[in-house]
Amino acid sequence: MQARPQSWRIGQVTVTKIVELESVGGSRFILPQATREACLDIDWMRPHFMDDEGRLKMSVHALVIQTPTKRIIVDTCLGNDKEGRGVAGWNNLNGPFLRDLAAAGFPRESIDTVMCTHLHVDHVGWNTMKVEDRWVPTFPNARYLMARSEFTYWQAKRDSAEHNAIFDDSVKPVFEAGLVDLVETDHRICDEVRLVPTVGHTPGHCSVLISSEGHEALITGDFVHHPCQMAMPAWASTADYDQEQSTRTRREVFGRLAGTRTLVIGTHFAGATAGHIKNDGDAFRLEV
Ligand SMILES: [Zn+2]
Repeated sequence: MQARPQSWRIGQVTVTKIVELESVGGSRFILPQATREACLDIDWMRPHFMDDEGRLKMSVHALVIQTPTKRIIVDTCLGNDKEGRGVAGWNNLNGPFLRDLAAAGFPRESIDTVMCTHLHVDHVGWNTMKVEDRWVPTFPNARYLMARSEFTYWQAKRDSAEHNAIFDDSVKPVFEAGLVDLVETDHRICDEVRLVPTVGHTPGHCSVLISSEGHEALITGDFVHHPCQMAMPAWASTADYDQEQSTRTRREVFGRLAGTRTLVIGTHFAGATAGHIKNDGDAFRLEV
């Protein structure tokens, strides 16, 4: 990992990015309309979010929010030792994520809140870790917050071996350990941090809004996967469960934030990862 992780200050709050995986290209499975030809036209994406060949850069990372009273990890990436994942490279990982987290000043025991923006594979993985043959909570001193509507949806779904594996190895063990608080999608975590519903990607999807001393930042979650969707809000992700709703959410949130001082911190944005949304014709762009 980088010697010093990227971080941002929002008033009295800091947000620190802990990277698990980064990729260039290979994102068509998630954003099929984002061909190289189509993306090359979106020039402002270079160099942070696209290379010179039009291949998209993406990242899987966690964001640690440190407030005066809380230490919150937002989304827990893929995790080590997981099996049954649909993307081959996401199985049996053996990465240094927990070491990097501790090196950044956040040993896992010191985390008091885990917030999963939604319950997809790359957002719940480090909820648990394998000890001998069991999945145990990685963050034993944390409350794990999940939107009630999100949890209920996935608990009932049980429709594929992959979904079942994800729920059983990364959600159920923390629930059974009594560490989960099911919350509403507009839940306030502390004075500076609250959830904002941004549904469409999943039924109970939340973004995380940070406000302190007149400064504001929004951690996106996956209502937007890549900044190309600011230029093309209708480029829905194959993982969006309701693509019309996710497109409405993107237009609504981008429209609300465009031209404001709210820092947008992307959950899968590579490179600079954060920026400000600007109006750009009848769409938007991210200024870093
Ligand atoms: Zn994701």
